[in-house]
Amino acid sequence: MDAIDLRSDTVTWPTPEMREAMANAAVGDDVWGDDPTVLQLEADAAAMLGKEAAVFVSSGTQGNLIAVMTHAGRGDEVILGKQSHTFRYEQGGIASLAGANPNTLEVQPDGTLDLDEIRAAIRATDDDHYPYTRLICLENTQGSVGGIPVSAAYTAQVGDIARANNLKLHIDGARFFNAAAALNTSVSELAGPADSVTFCLSKGLCAPVGSILVGSHEFITRARRNRKLLGGSMRQVGVLAAAGLISLHKMSKRLHEDHANARVLAEGLAQISYFNIDLSRVQTNMVFFELKPDAPLAADELSARLKAEHNILLAAMYGSKFRAVTHYWITRERVEYTLSALRSLLVPEAASQRVTAMGD
Ligand SMILES: *Cc1c(COP(=O)(O)O)cnc(C)c1O
Repeated sequence: MDAIDLRSDTVTWPTPEMREAMANAAVGDDVWGDDPTVLQLEADAAAMLGKEAAVFVSSGTQGNLIAVMTHAGRGDEVILGKQSHTFRYEQGGIASLAGANPNTLEVQPDGTLDLDEIRAAIRATDDDHYPYTRLICLENTQGSVGGIPVSAAYTAQVGDIARANNLKLHIDGARFFNAAAALNTSVSELAGPADSVTFCLSKGLCAPVGSILVGSHEFITRARRNRKLLGGSMRQVGVLAAAGLISLHKMSKRLHEDHANARVLAEGLAQISYFNIDLSRVQTNMVFFELKPDAPLAADELSARLKAEHNILLAAMYGSKFRAVTHYWITRERVEYTLSALRSLLVPEAASQRVTAMGD
């Protein structure tokens, strides 16, 4: 049996249908603009998000970097979350490569940036001491606070602030389709107020590689130049786009299953007294929980035994804090198995009684 890999939704293997589509993909030279499968993926992605154009990029990190480079010049200021992926986990590329100056605001527990703090962070343009503020970045779903989806109504308010101040709005939507599924809305509704959006094909959407950046024709034309500058323009990349088309049209429609499985996992964890978990924060495919100090095993021992005895991959992220992520390869049955493995390791008496009781 393959491992039950709950470390992230980045671990998703391509589906058999994707592998077949990749093998049979029509290809061309995408730098010359004649790979038909890439062109179709870009056109379909733009249409789905309600934007004029799209560009296929190698990763979410590259998509965000290109977006910042394209919206902002060297020394220009970008307002973004202190706990955002772009600020925390992209090696400071927006500073080192794009030359942008990050102005970070605290991410609220609901995944938003405070509107008054955004307004206050925008620089006056009539003082030579200040950099120009050019861009606001939001993240949706907001990973650091639990994979929390950010509403279209809030996004529209930030869009209004951006327009009123002559700024652009970019959304890091690595898990944008998860947000839309959780909020029961469309990605075009969520993208409406934004000038650009990045989303990952390679996470819950199961493609092996790739992200998409969408925006206006004019923006995407300049973004393509920056992709080339960063060495991110690829050739017969239709083999990857073929998987991306299945992500876009098929995998995007099933994410509520991952969210339901996350809920089952969370509710099962809440039944085990050695875990702390806030069920109200489980809104998409991420489950954050903590092992209490009185547990019979330490977090790293628990991870090691889950792996060795049950082939379950679930690593403690910060000390005794865990993050489990559900995805295409984590079926309901595998969630149930994971819960029974955790019970057997942490509360063996209760687990064996339960087995006996069920045998009666
Ligand atoms: C994963 C992720 C990214 C980066 O995507 P890569 O494809 O791994 O480079 C960006 N933002 C968020 C919120 C992410 O979760």
